[in-house]
Amino acid sequence: MHTNPFLVVANWKMNPLTIREAERLIRNFEAGIEKIGKNDFLKKVELVICPPFPYLGRINKSKFFRLGSQNIHFEPRGAFTGEVSIRMVEDAGAKFTIIGHSERRINFGETDTQVNLKLKAALQSSLCPIICVGESFEERKNGETTQVIAKQIKKALEKVSILSLPRIVVAYEPIWAISTSKNASCEVDNANDIMGIMILIKKIISEIYQKDVASRVRIIYGGSVNPGNVSDLLEINSLSGVLVGGASLSAFDFLPILKKAYEREVK
Ligand code: PEP
Repeated sequence: MHTNPFLVVANWKMNPLTIREAERLIRNFEAGIEKIGKNDFLKKVELVICPPFPYLGRINKSKFFRLGSQNIHFEPRGAFTGEVSIRMVEDAGAKFTIIGHSERRINFGETDTQVNLKLKAALQSSLCPIICVGESFEERKNGETTQVIAKQIKKALEKVSILSLPRIVVAYEPIWAISTSKNASCEVDNANDIMGIMILIKKIISEIYQKDVASRVRIIYGGSVNPGNVSDLLEINSLSGVLVGGASLSAFDFLPILKKAYEREVK
């Protein structure tokens, strides 16, 4: 059984286009959350919003959510044009950071080695890292899912102390399920599929540390989570949270997800 509040991470990617729109979205979220569970929402759901970098320092602090960055550089400072350091995002209010999102791996050539460097750098800071792993459609079709995920996790955790595990969140995000209407539970062998991958991730981590550390790491799921499919996902007992992209850009879609997550925790 999970003991932390249920984690809901909103990955806004390169949206919305103005700070004004971002602020409006936040206001709508806050108004909706007040109605969901004003007094104990925070105890039940840990909401993390990951806006684009320029908005990080400008979004007002809120008691209802914490901020996260969508990326970081592993070097602390220097001649890295276009990059943003950990200290900068901390200074702008971030408490979490996404690392190794598939869009960064695919579009910007981010490697497992860089993911490992970023994770180790984040663990030296105050940030809570969210490591994304997941297979492509091709890899799944070729029966390589286990291999791919094992490689991503092993490399990400290379030389990472066992003591850091409770701070690390692993997001299983099958690439083929991101920004589509498909999600892993609906597409393949029902919820067993996500559960199977979660067990696999825990097994790999326990093998790395040669110890049963399965319960120390939070594992969340991402890939087209929406108000229509979130209930199925919330049935997965050992799921510690969800990572939401597209549906986190509209209060109409996002609030029902938060409400269902809250209801799961108060049950
Ligand atoms: C993501 O890219 O992290 C994500 C979960 O996106 P979406 O929900 O839009 O599939």
